[in-house]
Amino acid sequence: MTVPSRKRPEIVAPAGNLEKLKFAVLYGADSVYFGGEEHNLRIQSDNFTRGDIGEALDFCKKHGAGTIFLMNSFLHEKDIPAAARYIGEMKGFPFDAVMVSDPGMMALVRESGAPWKVHLSTQMSTLNHLAVRFWHRAGVDRIVLAREATLEEIRMVRDNTDAEIEVFVHGALCVAYSGRCLLSRFMAGRDANRGDCAQACRWRYSLVEEKREGSHLDIIEHASGTEILSSKDLCLIDRLAEYIDAGVDALKIEGRMKSIYYSANTARIYRHAAECAGTPGFEKNLPFYREELDLVSHRPYTADVFNEFDGEGFGPVPYIRKAMFMGYSAGTATDGASLVKTFNPIRPNETLEAIFPITDTVQDDRFLVKEIRDSEGTIVDLARPNALYRITFDRELGENAILRKRL
Ligand code: SF4
Repeated sequence: MTVPSRKRPEIVAPAGNLEKLKFAVLYGADSVYFGGEEHNLRIQSDNFTRGDIGEALDFCKKHGAGTIFLMNSFLHEKDIPAAARYIGEMKGFPFDAVMVSDPGMMALVRESGAPWKVHLSTQMSTLNHLAVRFWHRAGVDRIVLAREATLEEIRMVRDNTDAEIEVFVHGALCVAYSGRCLLSRFMAGRDANRGDCAQACRWRYSLVEEKREGSHLDIIEHASGTEILSSKDLCLIDRLAEYIDAGVDALKIEGRMKSIYYSANTARIYRHAAECAGTPGFEKNLPFYREELDLVSHRPYTADVFNEFDGEGFGPVPYIRKAMFMGYSAGTATDGASLVKTFNPIRPNETLEAIFPITDTVQDDRFLVKEIRDSEGTIVDLARPNALYRITFDRELGENAILRKRL
């Protein structure tokens, strides 16, 4: 493995809502990206209200994390006045950077006089140093390269430009150039370029011969589905040292629609791995990193999106879920019980795994549920999802632990 000689890149984590943002930061993200109620590319996500944005900025400042605000939708002519108004309304928020895809949006940001740095989204499909130089000279501070850029291309970009570069290291991929795709709009009237992708490429398809209407022929690619267009997920953990050595400034994790558990665990694993890359500790920890990334929901992983399409074609792409996110500890009561926000049902006498931010050592462990009390203080035999319970474990859990159960 190449030994990285460069500085540790920033870990950039997804924050689909305020809870996910807080856990991503507590678990190791150096910066987080999130969208407001307009003009970002995930209109299905619980996007941030103005109140959420204020709280997110205070939280990130307190914990020394950077903030990247998403304004990365593509603008039609009719969208321009609303985008200009929205930028004016957001101008007072001290984001570290704003992410754009459309040069028109960038022009509106610059014209507004807002002091934010500008990051260019992967949606612009930047693949080479000439394009990076072009955007850098045009005033872009950081370019998120296309996910299709190979390691060799990343090295070429680094060696021939001074601009900050960011690459995706983990998460879902498209079969089109990062969302520049009309399939969802065609099939469901939902435009991926305006933040509303229905992931139509992952639906089940069958073939129908013209003269045999109603006779649907499955295209059997694997036992659980026929997602003939669906891509594997990206996971660069095994090759992280090479990417760091190539000189990237930031490593990005995809997944604003995923759970708190996903945001937190991917942030902590990539943060820890980036800190260890190039030391004997990295190789020692690699099985742990791999196992933890296998325990967040994902499709089969690939480390080579570009060459994935050569020769082999698409392999099976069932969704893999090996652990269930049960909840997190939001505090500790005076008697040592944990205040647990639940996401799935929890019962007495079951053993849950808890994960924690990695400090000097990995503190992850198993905890036995001894007693559950509801908000009235009554002992119950089931903690239902989406509520706060007081749970006594066989020993004190502490705050900000994330609870999961292996499936
Ligand atoms: S339909 Fe699939 S390929 Fe197209 S933008 Fe959505 S996720 Fe990407």
